[in-house]
Amino acid sequence: MNAFEHAAAQSDTYLAQLKDLLAIPSVSTLPEHSADMQRAAEWLAAHLRGVGMDRAEVMPTGGYPVVYAEWLNAPGAPTVLVYGHYDVQPPDPLDEWASPPFTATERDGDLYARGATDDKGQLFVQVKAVDALLSAEGALPVNVKFLLEGEEEIGSKHLDSFIEAHRDLLAADVALISDAPVWAIDQPSITYGIRGMTYMEIEVRGPRADLHSGAYGGTVHNPAQALCEIIAALHNPDGSVAVPGFYDRVRPIDEEERAALAKLPWTEAKWRSETGAPKPWGEQGVQLRRAAWRPPHA
Ligand SMILES: [Zn+2]
Repeated sequence: MNAFEHAAAQSDTYLAQLKDLLAIPSVSTLPEHSADMQRAAEWLAAHLRGVGMDRAEVMPTGGYPVVYAEWLNAPGAPTVLVYGHYDVQPPDPLDEWASPPFTATERDGDLYARGATDDKGQLFVQVKAVDALLSAEGALPVNVKFLLEGEEEIGSKHLDSFIEAHRDLLAADVALISDAPVWAIDQPSITYGIRGMTYMEIEVRGPRADLHSGAYGGTVHNPAQALCEIIAALHNPDGSVAVPGFYDRVRPIDEEERAALAKLPWTEAKWRSETGAPKPWGEQGVQLRRAAWRPPHA
């Protein structure tokens, strides 16, 4: 039996185990769940030891702990570091749930629970891949390390310092971030980049006090109007960003990426049904699926 056959044969067991993990309300934003956070970390460390990782432990940080595990018995092969997080968002508002958030429930082939798709489900796929390979084949083709944190939903406050303090332990040739969706159930996907975000607050000030329109109108710029002009100046009429230097360090899309994106079955009709918007907006001549993912925008 190979690893795929083994995983298929074990799917009921794997699903039951995932439900156990989903039942732990590891809500990092709420201090009353700190014992659950610890429980989720310990559950994962024990599970990782159980599937045959050589070392798996709960390691302290300045906040919620990191679960670290390793299997390094493939000398000469690359080392893959798998990242995931075991904390979840709060489940409120509870009356919007069709089934209890911490009782994983199957409906129409999907599994509903807080954390099922962010990120316990994803990280568990990697854990069970290791399980299936070690059970069926006795070894992994690469060296594997796991880094599962408990603070992703609160800004990964202590992750940088943890990584800094454990550089050698975490050293790897490639990092697999297991915290993203797949395109479709029958289409495995590798997310190779994600856009960041920048927030800013702009304060526009005008005259000291309200001014009479008859006496001063036309001579004092209205701050509301000035703010509209500033915001409007961020884009060119074709939808591209007009901020000087904005595109300077954007890597051009290459043929391989272009071809890969073109292969995805993403239609304008699907986009319309998802968004409810009457028509697409944005930079002229940029394919919809490319516009949504690849170029930065403001
Ligand atoms: Zn996540």
